[in-house]
Amino acid sequence: MSVSERDILAAMSKVMDPELHIDLVKAGMVKDVRVDGDKAKLKIELTTPACPMKGKIQADAEAALKQVPGLKTFDIEWGAQVRSAPNAGGQAILPQVKNVILVGAGKGGVGKSTVSVNLAAALAREGAKVGLLDADFYGPSVPLMTGITEKPVSPDGKTLLPLEKHGLKVMSIGFLVEADQALIWRGPMLHGALMQLVRDVRWGELDYLVLDLPPGTGDVALSLSQSVKASGAVLVTTPQDVALADVVRAKQMFDKVHIPVLGIVENMSQFVCPHCSKATAIFNRGGGRKAAEMFGIPFLGEIPLELKIREAGDAGVPVVISHPESAEAQAFVAMARNIAGRVSTENMRVAVKLPVIR
Ligand code: ADP
Ligand code: MG
Repeated sequence: MSVSERDILAAMSKVMDPELHIDLVKAGMVKDVRVDGDKAKLKIELTTPACPMKGKIQADAEAALKQVPGLKTFDIEWGAQVRSAPNAGGQAILPQVKNVILVGAGKGGVGKSTVSVNLAAALAREGAKVGLLDADFYGPSVPLMTGITEKPVSPDGKTLLPLEKHGLKVMSIGFLVEADQALIWRGPMLHGALMQLVRDVRWGELDYLVLDLPPGTGDVALSLSQSVKASGAVLVTTPQDVALADVVRAKQMFDKVHIPVLGIVENMSQFVCPHCSKATAIFNRGGGRKAAEMFGIPFLGEIPLELKIREAGDAGVPVVISHPESAEAQAFVAMARNIAGRVSTENMRVAVKLPVIR
């Protein structure tokens, strides 16, 4: 009995992407199917190298191929091709950036920058091309958290080259202005400087650009969010009620400008004592998950309150890079995969007009 390429495609069309809720063939992930007698070769391109469902899809695809009558051996080459946000191609600025992920909401100090830096570093470690843009003129902390002390250069007097560190391309308002200077900037000047950051940086091709927004839901955060046509926004909160109220406001802001909220990250969710391993919910754990349920938006993960996270931030090496095997790094990696998965789902949902599944 001879096997045909159609048999292979038929088998792959029975394998569902559990997150996108469509099969691998419809999702356009199956490439280069070749059959030679009772052997088959094919390529499966996931929609992100940080796919949270990779293990399941691999197991399901292999199981489906084993069911193909007459097929003795197969060889799957696994890859990933990050898709663009539906509006990314048409946008006038950042044409080479496939997805802009906003990290925002909340007052200062809830951990927006810590989440941004570790999200970017985790996505890069998974194999994606990633940029990190710090637009928080109130307190640009990305230079410290990435350990970059150099200033960016402009080869042509018009555009800026991002700095490269930890496998990331990095730009921060903190590279361009002194900390105390930005605070006294108002209106047009500030707007001009921020627009220069999003428009005039030579990012090159990026799968993801993580944008660390200024705190709150003011005009600046709003106009920045709109100017880049983001794929979605990640809301960071601590479990405390006051921070949750900020999430409510942020959700309303992003809804107003039609930017999908990818979900909520609960930072500083609990403190694990390094001496006795006892977990203490200093800020009342679980609030982020509750808020997510209340709004019907996904919960993206809990990040523990951990000395190592703060120390790594201060030392300029994100914890996902300095202690990749630690529980806190793993929490960031799980969060990053969830976010990448949500971006893929949003992109695919618009591309094939899928119903909203939450
Ligand atoms: P934001 O950007 O929202 O102002 P940061 O990311 O700068 O907040 O975090 C504020 C401070 O708290 C920083 O010193 C950071 O290292 C620390 N921090 C943030 N998240 C954690 C955490 N999960 N565990 C320990 N320290 C944290
Ligand atoms: Mg910050």
